[in-house]
Amino acid sequence: MKSWIESANNPQCHFPIQNLPFGVAILPNGKQNCVSAIGDYVVDLAVLEAAGLITSHNSQSVFNQSALNDFMQSGAKAWDDVRASLTTLLRKAGSTSLSANDTLKQQVLIPLDDVTLMMPFKVSEYTDFYSGKQHATNVGTMFRGPENALPPNWLHIPIGYNGRASTVVVSGTPIIRPSGQTKSPDADQPTFGPCKRLDIELEMGAVVGIPSKMGHPISVQQADDMIFGYVLLNDWSARDIQAWEYQPLGPFQAKAFATSISPWIITKAALEQFRTTTPQREKPLLKYLQEPKPMSYDIELTVSIQPDKSNTPTTISHTNYNNLYYSAAQQLAHHASSGCKMNTGDLLGSGTISGTEKSGFGSLLEISWGGQEPLTLDGGQTRTFIEDGDTLTLSGWAQGDGYKIGFGECTGTILPAIKISGE
Ligand code: MN
Repeated sequence: MKSWIESANNPQCHFPIQNLPFGVAILPNGKQNCVSAIGDYVVDLAVLEAAGLITSHNSQSVFNQSALNDFMQSGAKAWDDVRASLTTLLRKAGSTSLSANDTLKQQVLIPLDDVTLMMPFKVSEYTDFYSGKQHATNVGTMFRGPENALPPNWLHIPIGYNGRASTVVVSGTPIIRPSGQTKSPDADQPTFGPCKRLDIELEMGAVVGIPSKMGHPISVQQADDMIFGYVLLNDWSARDIQAWEYQPLGPFQAKAFATSISPWIITKAALEQFRTTTPQREKPLLKYLQEPKPMSYDIELTVSIQPDKSNTPTTISHTNYNNLYYSAAQQLAHHASSGCKMNTGDLLGSGTISGTEKSGFGSLLEISWGGQEPLTLDGGQTRTFIEDGDTLTLSGWAQGDGYKIGFGECTGTILPAIKISGE
């Protein structure tokens, strides 16, 4: 299928007509509306809704808002109907109600370069999982030795912790280097100061669209039905702070300072034909975690780093989402299994997605093997962890036949730490 918007038909474009992601943008007219993307343009969904060309079946507008939560909460029929209407309006098939109306076209299609992409939804709560087996094995090997690399529960439970929604930010937001309490192994006392081992975690985020009820567990299939879509997610991590604080309750300040997500939510519908199975189970899962059908996706993922004043990003990792041992649907089913209520706008981080080779590791901790093996960037600089001024960028896409379902980018530049005033 092609679009009458020619830039969408370039095989390298992240936003062909098969994608139709959802986001939020500040438009040249000053409004902040829900938008989609096609080729080099955003699509102002509020204008299409007001013109009666798309509907979420709500009595009030859901698209002239600064977050997608109301649309997400409208349910699967609304998601499907809006996608079908957008496809009809944007596909190349004679003239459409949009392509034939120059006035409307001018209002609806705005060059991507002329808008500012914002947080696509209000994050209700953020939970981060640890479902990459290679990542858990690598980190466990470094911290506890190869015999005890995977904790005894790991092959039975998608392990996670409750993170902070308050510091989930959209791609492009600068990240201030965190400070915290650390203690080096040979020191007697801990000290407080800027993080010295600042890292990324290459993850994907699942966005919950439909809520569950408190006290009511859900099946993996119900969980999959509740998921609205997926984003790229960088779970910035302060490894030195984490190493000192993490026992016995897990990461706290080491991960609370920032989490970046990409501005476009890629829908389950766009990813449907890229569904694939999670890896072979090494131990049978309890029934409530078993998948009734393939619940993972074939999505290529990359990480690049670009030092301050350099023009060349260096790709430091290339891996695939399908490495994850537990799918987002399994994570969500497990999250609700106690009766925990899940809300519209909940964000589930997948856990770091590392491939089996060093070229596919999803964190600098693993790539530099705890800082022992510096990597050399194009241009000659070396890195173990992130330095001030470095820009880290995640990208991702599912490769179709002649098109990509792209996620765009999730990027962030590190700024120097800020001292507590008075010190
Ligand atoms: Mn993480």
